[in-house]
Amino acid sequence: MNKNTAKTLYKTIQLYRNEPVFACLDELEKSQWYPKEKLGNIQWERLKKLLEHAYNTVPFYKQRFDGAGLKPEDIKSKNDLLKLPVLTKKQIKDNSEALISSQKMKTDRLPTAGSSGDPLIVRRNMLSTAYSRAAKYRGHRWFDIEIGEKEARIWGESLDKRGRSKEAIKDFLMNRTRWSAYNLTPTALRAFYEKLLKYRPAYFYGYASLLYEYASYLIENSLDLKPLGLKAAISTSETLTEKQRKTISKAFCCPVVNEYGCTETGIIAFECPSGGMHIPIEAVYVEIIPETIEGGGKMGRVVVTDLHNYSMPIIRYEIGDLAESSTESRCKCGRELPLIGNITGRTSDILYTKDGRKIHTIIFYYLFCNLEMEGIKIEKYQVIREKNGRLVLNIVPSNDITAAQIGLIKKMVEDIFGGSGAIDVVCVKYIPRAGSGKCKDFIDERK
Ligand SMILES: [Zn+2]
Repeated sequence: MNKNTAKTLYKTIQLYRNEPVFACLDELEKSQWYPKEKLGNIQWERLKKLLEHAYNTVPFYKQRFDGAGLKPEDIKSKNDLLKLPVLTKKQIKDNSEALISSQKMKTDRLPTAGSSGDPLIVRRNMLSTAYSRAAKYRGHRWFDIEIGEKEARIWGESLDKRGRSKEAIKDFLMNRTRWSAYNLTPTALRAFYEKLLKYRPAYFYGYASLLYEYASYLIENSLDLKPLGLKAAISTSETLTEKQRKTISKAFCCPVVNEYGCTETGIIAFECPSGGMHIPIEAVYVEIIPETIEGGGKMGRVVVTDLHNYSMPIIRYEIGDLAESSTESRCKCGRELPLIGNITGRTSDILYTKDGRKIHTIIFYYLFCNLEMEGIKIEKYQVIREKNGRLVLNIVPSNDITAAQIGLIKKMVEDIFGGSGAIDVVCVKYIPRAGSGKCKDFIDERK
């Protein structure tokens, strides 16, 4: 559909949903140029208001404040906020009723995949979803992508027919085309290429691993997406590595943009054209709690507060990701929205060795990058902690690898993990994807 028609349609839908996306976007367009201090004040005022509201109308937080011997007015600084315990996924699940405010308001019920596969439901009032959508669209505009422009995505899809029809309607209304993450055979990918030439999307959206897989297919077949003149390929949900970024950019012939967020709180950071991962502090309050992990650099646990969710306040939510605090204080783009450093993965990706060391699975990525520079190539890998606690590293080596080189890799990995037998290294033909279509670097079968 024509982009102007799509935008008008979207406006009508937002009006009907009572979701003020456009008003929020107008505000964010202006506030992105505010000085740091002014932005910080807006965020802090919003946070204080939310804490008051949570204490007065939400049983869970009343108890939480009382338990810590605190009143909302005791929280006068960022340090004071640390006295309030973090909120875990399990706590949200176990307190789904106690977390709801007694003040009634229209909400969206958003299911998100729980760690054990069962969904976690977070209710968000329309102002909360509007701000996070607006933060996303503001990011799109940094790349000249306007609401209503055509999107192509490689994504998971519902396994039942009813779910798929619902998705098809939503895709139509949102002016986008979807290619199933479960259909990645060379024939299917070629068909997708033909479809794209006709559909002519303005930008791409997908999990880093899927965009990378498609980019690799295009390069191997001497194809690229130059004829489309894409404005950006937006990568989401998974850690985007430098290798993936380069390959995607080469095949898609456009900038690769990192989006970071979660269903529970919406957008947490969006990359600008100068490469800064900006936090939309008008919408969220983000903390990085330092952790010491081998192979993890200066990582910390990501803790997020949604500043506008008044129906089910999500305060100091530990989402289970690891990221670095940014070392840059200013971005070249001129925006003073704060920055977040590398987002390196999940806290659940941490492995414990027998001698008690903590190692992040990202270490394999760096190890294999180093080996690639030495001419030894690993296409993919996955670490599995089996039910009996045994660690297995599955690797898909390239075709021309020698037995001696595989032996060397095994030795290097074993050395990291504390000698022979600490981890089994197994060569496999391919790594299967999870049900959602996501590619997992680490699977813990004990969960
Ligand atoms: Zn920037």
